[in-house]
Amino acid sequence: MAPPKVYKNFINGEWVDSVSRESFENLNPANHGELIGLFPHSTPEDVNRAVAAAREAFRCWRLMPAPKRGEILYRAARLLQERKEAMAEQMTMEMGKVLAETRGDVQEAIDMTFYMAGEGRRQFGQTTPSELANKFAMTVRSPLGVCGMITPWNFPMAIPSWKIMPALICGNTVVIKPAQDTPLSTYNLVQVLEEAGIPRGVVNLVCGFGREVGVPMVDHQDVRAVSFTGSTEVGRAVSIGCAPTFKPVCLEMGGKNAMIVMDDANLELALEGAVWGSFGTTGQRCTATSRIIVHKEIYPHFCELLVDRARALRVGNGLDKSVQMGPLVNESQVKTVDGYVQIGKSEGAKLLTGGERLADGDHASGWFYAPTIFGDCQPRMRIVQEEIFGPVVSLIPVGSFEEALDVGNDVVYGLSSAIYTRDVNKAFHAMRDLETGIVYVNAPTIGAETHLPFGGVKQTGNGHREAAITALEFYSEWKTLYIDYSDRLQRAQIDNQ
Ligand code: NAD
Repeated sequence: MAPPKVYKNFINGEWVDSVSRESFENLNPANHGELIGLFPHSTPEDVNRAVAAAREAFRCWRLMPAPKRGEILYRAARLLQERKEAMAEQMTMEMGKVLAETRGDVQEAIDMTFYMAGEGRRQFGQTTPSELANKFAMTVRSPLGVCGMITPWNFPMAIPSWKIMPALICGNTVVIKPAQDTPLSTYNLVQVLEEAGIPRGVVNLVCGFGREVGVPMVDHQDVRAVSFTGSTEVGRAVSIGCAPTFKPVCLEMGGKNAMIVMDDANLELALEGAVWGSFGTTGQRCTATSRIIVHKEIYPHFCELLVDRARALRVGNGLDKSVQMGPLVNESQVKTVDGYVQIGKSEGAKLLTGGERLADGDHASGWFYAPTIFGDCQPRMRIVQEEIFGPVVSLIPVGSFEEALDVGNDVVYGLSSAIYTRDVNKAFHAMRDLETGIVYVNAPTIGAETHLPFGGVKQTGNGHREAAITALEFYSEWKTLYIDYSDRLQRAQIDNQ
């Protein structure tokens, strides 16, 4: 048997081992006997080296004209396009989602890289007349310095690109820690940036775990901002870690996203959306549809049709083109999902289909779970309130549109929501009143595009938005400039009265 491939960290423009010389395994969730590679089990000392390199590189990178920085990003985007298929296959092998979805993940990175490359020529500030004569005023964006980034495993190339590309175009340097379950896709992204000509030290990759890499990165005094995507629990710890030094921190966390299906909806469209929203990426999306709130007039019929579709889904290895749903990412996710299924049963929700691990035949060596639907759920049940992050969806019957909105808003999260209706008035009321950062009308809760702001309210986020032009707000600070060409002291608020 060939020895496993050994991957390295990328620090100061070089591929290097961790100072620990230890490694961790990256396994295929569809076949956990298959080792994808060994990755460096990094230590706080590796973080120190990466931050020192990024700090040094910041001196020059911040002075490179933004359009020139954009040219490097354009080259990177083209390389990603060339390698899309191979990178998607590798991502399916390390993360499990089906090829159509991993192609989408790489495409999102391509879109984000092209988009931010263009921002190199669009970092507009403001100019305004001063209140004083012969005086000029304007604002410019300034980079922050070294940005620390911590990412989850469910979008292992797209999410790193959402953070790295806007940070770079604004003139910051980067230290990124990918999730330990999926380091290869982030490795591939960083390798592309290297080949595109990113100067040494500007982007640094440190693989490893939260305690040894994430925590020291958050605490490091030379890290000037932290961007985190992951669970609300870890996000809270990251936020607390940033508080003593008032480090800006962008948090993108959990969701418990609801789809409302009204009695006037196009039922076929709503069903298609429900299947894609609930079981796409095996339910492991922050925007996954995990609650379906259905008007009671159509509830029995909707349940029946949705159960038929869920049962027909082909679950298996995502590299197989006929497969529609891949495995969960690891054993611990299987246990979490199964734990919630037991909770649902004990709470009195009606298990309509699924509710079991798939472990026979083709599923024997993977982390597979059956598409699961609970019916007759009550809004306050734990399976309706807490993020499960698996292929489990709860159906909640309601008697009116107003009740549907109340139930939709009755969770601590606020990432995404959807409403299926043909009534324009209801659609506009829902767009206004649903407490989420993203609202879809006649489309499922998933499907973000890179040129629109992405993020959530309540305990999903802390007020920032990723993607689009809004991402620049986090990765730059406004500097206000006053230029007095009067040749005399002019006092604002005093001399012009
Ligand atoms: P997680 O919170 O367990 O881990 C996220 C990252 O944080 C990993 O890289 C992990 O190693 C690191 N980490 C763990 N402990 C840390 C600590 N104490 N300090 C610093 N870093 C630490 O999340 P996950 O299981 O990788 O991802 C699933 C979660 O991510 C879900 O809750 C999901 O909703 C959320 N998510 C949110 C969005 C969004 O944009 N809102 C997108 C994708 C995923």
